[in-house]
Amino acid sequence: MEPWTHRAACRDADPDLFFPITEDRTRRTIAAQVDRAKAVCARCPVWSQCLSYAIETRQDHGIWGGLTASERRRLARNGTETRIQRPPDAA
Ligand code: SF4
Repeated sequence: MEPWTHRAACRDADPDLFFPITEDRTRRTIAAQVDRAKAVCARCPVWSQCLSYAIETRQDHGIWGGLTASERRRLARNGTETRIQRPPDAA
């Protein structure tokens, strides 16, 4: 069976888009970059697998499954009480 990563919407995107770096950048620039990454995730057919993988492997950086690291930590803390929903389309 083909790995879920083969169907990722970000396969041909610039990886840096999903890993905003705070150095030498303003908050506004970072927020715009996060929005652009989330827009890609919003049309990704494997976003739930991506998000599950990121939570299970405790990815501390980057946008995975349409969520930032802090959003994933919040989701993981809330456990099964939080229903995972498709990320909103930020486009
Ligand atoms: S949800 Fe986002 S980061 Fe994850 S595979 Fe899809 S496009 Fe890439």
